[in-house]
Amino acid sequence: MLKDSYNRRIDYLRISITDKCNLKCVYCMPSKGLKHFKDPEIMTDEEIVRFVRVAHKYGLSKVRITGGEPLMRKNIIGLISSIKQLGIPELSLTTNGIMLSGLAGELKKAGLDRVNISLDTMDAGRYKMMTRGGDIARVWKSLEAAERVGLSPVKINVVPIRDVNDDEILPFASLTFQKDYHIRFIELMPAVCDEVWRKEKCVTAKEILEMISTVGSLESFEFRGRGPSRNYRIKGAVGVIGIISPVSDHFCSFCNRLRLTADGKIRPCLFSKDEIDIKTPMRAGVDDEEIEKLFCRAVQIKPQRHLLNERAGALGHLNTMSKIGG
Ligand code: SAM
Ligand code: SF4
Repeated sequence: MLKDSYNRRIDYLRISITDKCNLKCVYCMPSKGLKHFKDPEIMTDEEIVRFVRVAHKYGLSKVRITGGEPLMRKNIIGLISSIKQLGIPELSLTTNGIMLSGLAGELKKAGLDRVNISLDTMDAGRYKMMTRGGDIARVWKSLEAAERVGLSPVKINVVPIRDVNDDEILPFASLTFQKDYHIRFIELMPAVCDEVWRKEKCVTAKEILEMISTVGSLESFEFRGRGPSRNYRIKGAVGVIGIISPVSDHFCSFCNRLRLTADGKIRPCLFSKDEIDIKTPMRAGVDDEEIEKLFCRAVQIKPQRHLLNERAGALGHLNTMSKIGG
């Protein structure tokens, strides 16, 4: 078991496997797009698997694959299979759901345990606007496919933005009466993508909780795993509601994660500038012992907490959410 300098157990790795995406969500990507990494800059399958193998020696219990849009990566099925074969107890993937319906069965067979699907609205026109062109019908199909093949519990990530989709907080919460989905409301975080971010656009956890309390009485609900989500069930519902509040109420004392960026840097905190390059040493031929040292160093420099509240406007380094993996 690996603990950081603040006695937090670190057992969760999030890996961004590509910075490319087939959507341009208004809160994640600038309208003119991003300059993407060139192919040789991206970690290869072998490098990713090697890193996970080394990190797993220290007791990883959970790995999440993200991006960019992870399903755009070539050989995604092979990569999932290789990571699962390392013995990772819980392997999940976050996707926008555009390509999932055709891949769900193969992903499950390859060893993927479950998925988070990002869906900020149930309205087709609004979806097109918020994703700059996405077709919501494909996401509905993917949700069905994920349920059908048992990539469950299916989690839906919703980012409420004031005066954009905050009128859908209740409809999303109410979905948990019909479906055993986990609806996860994530506070809007600053990412430098021209139009959207202003602090007042962020609907806070407190506001979300007040809203969903009007639907029925809320029971606090714990499910497997630790982490930043505070979970509730509305009395009589089958699904779960999670609220993640990086902006209004930082959850750093519960943080159990490290991130690996698409270009091979370990990022101890989503919001910190510190990164440890593992790709360059790997390509220079270092042995596993050296990779272990770098991994342990990243754990040791994990900051006690982020300063998002204090410095939200100045976080230029968050402009690459799709590169770091949100
Ligand atoms: N493309 C995949 C997707 O959309 O699910 C995976 C990558 S995406 C960066 C991962 C998650 O980050 C998504 O659920 C997305 O809603 C969230 N995200 C992106 N930008 C965000 C922002 N500015 N504030 C809060 N969440 C954000
Ligand atoms: Fe792409 Fe996901 Fe970012 Fe949307 S949130 S632009 S789907 S990476």
